[in-house]
Amino acid sequence: MAKHFDYICLGAGSGGIASANRAAMRGAKVALIEAKHLGGTCVNVGCVPKKVMWYGAQVAEAINLFSKDYGFDVSVNGFNWQTLVDNREAYIERIHGAYERGLASNKITLIEGYGKFVNSNTIEVNGEHYSADHITIAVGGTPVIPSIPGAEHGIDSNGFFELTEQPKRVAVVGAGYIAVELAGVLHSLGSDTHLVVRKHSPLRDFDPMLSETLVELMAEHGPQLHTHSVPESVVKNSDGSLTLKLQNGNSLDVDCLIWAIGRRPLTQEINIEAANVKLDDKGFVEVDAYQQTSQPGVYAVGDIIQGGIELTPVAVKAGRLLSERLFGGMTDAKMDYSLVPTVVFSHPAIGTMGLTEPQAVEQYGEDNIKVYNSSFAAMYNAVTAHRQLTRMKLICAGPDEKVVGIHGIGFGMDEILQGFGVAMKMGATKADFDACVAIHPTSAEEFVTLR
Ligand code: NDP
Repeated sequence: MAKHFDYICLGAGSGGIASANRAAMRGAKVALIEAKHLGGTCVNVGCVPKKVMWYGAQVAEAINLFSKDYGFDVSVNGFNWQTLVDNREAYIERIHGAYERGLASNKITLIEGYGKFVNSNTIEVNGEHYSADHITIAVGGTPVIPSIPGAEHGIDSNGFFELTEQPKRVAVVGAGYIAVELAGVLHSLGSDTHLVVRKHSPLRDFDPMLSETLVELMAEHGPQLHTHSVPESVVKNSDGSLTLKLQNGNSLDVDCLIWAIGRRPLTQEINIEAANVKLDDKGFVEVDAYQQTSQPGVYAVGDIIQGGIELTPVAVKAGRLLSERLFGGMTDAKMDYSLVPTVVFSHPAIGTMGLTEPQAVEQYGEDNIKVYNSSFAAMYNAVTAHRQLTRMKLICAGPDEKVVGIHGIGFGMDEILQGFGVAMKMGATKADFDACVAIHPTSAEEFVTLR
């Protein structure tokens, strides 16, 4: 006999935990199934440990690049990678504890083990069966590695977080968020770092101003960018080092190779056929606007869904809204996937929301958009010899100049964007931006003083 619940979330990552907690707060009897650690990718091998490493890199930059011109006579005796890793992992342990206490106070049954569908309302974990009126698939994704000879000698982003020593020479292959962030962190912490992209730049889908500025800054400050470089094979040498051979005839000798070429959904692993839900050709779960799959009673949120946005807060919001709809009486609650702000923790950070300039031109026509640009050195680094560019762009559409795109790269951009996101969600125009008095002196004030 299966143990029965009102609601089961399969996967205790950001989406699953958020949805389970909200359902329980609305009175549902809830089970949460997880094979590994609470918090999923974000907490264990994603946003959280990445951000800690990024902060470590910020400290390194403050010491190595800026401290001298602020008058400090600093000598660094060393950098202990393991200390940073230990403190990072201790912080993550505290998050696990907070999650456990939250689940317990909501009286959620945590089932530890790998869950696999038996049928559309039953899941098996360690030989036990658990059924529910409603089941949400929230198992997320995992990094992919290319199918080229020797690819197994490289690691992925999960492997990066297992490194107990700082690699001296490292190649990061990929052109998305993860590649840019890991390469930036490693470079700032002192590894000889190569970012290998197969086209002309990283972050190609972002507004061209952002990717072009990032390329410009990398040329000036590192890491070393290799464009038009498609990996061909990897050879492990007798001294343990790796040689990454590229199709253009070049090669790189490194101690560590990191693949960051994208992620795939973890649908293969959960016997999803038994749930009878429709997948797309890449294995992502097809859902409607209400996170509903093709099978009644089965839903999906987070990185597993087709056409979704692979960001923690998106999964969290979608999971909570789904629970409000199922158990909170908000019968029309659904996630709004438009206008999602996002930050790439590059060096310096990138913040972006809404349409890129090419997208705005396509949607509104060139004559119907107005683009405001700004380029300057943030005060933090402008007073030093290590001036670093900040660039900002506002894209406005129509006669009322509604802001349809906001993009920035520069010191502090990671913390700047959120408030402007609220304004854009409210439909702000350029005049609304201008009506807000600037906070001086900040970088953010540029967004309300653009001419
Ligand atoms: P992405 O899919 O964003 O980027 C991977 C890129 O690598 C591709 O776009 C492609 O770029 C390139 N690539 C693909 N295949 C190959 C190949 N065989 N060889 C070389 N390059 C290849 O994946 P990520 O793994 O970086 O990130 C996954 C998602 O996780 C992101 O989209 C983001 O939503 C989320 N994330 C968010 C973060 C944040 O919020 N700060 C941080 C990290 C991840 P091209 O076609 O240009 O070569």
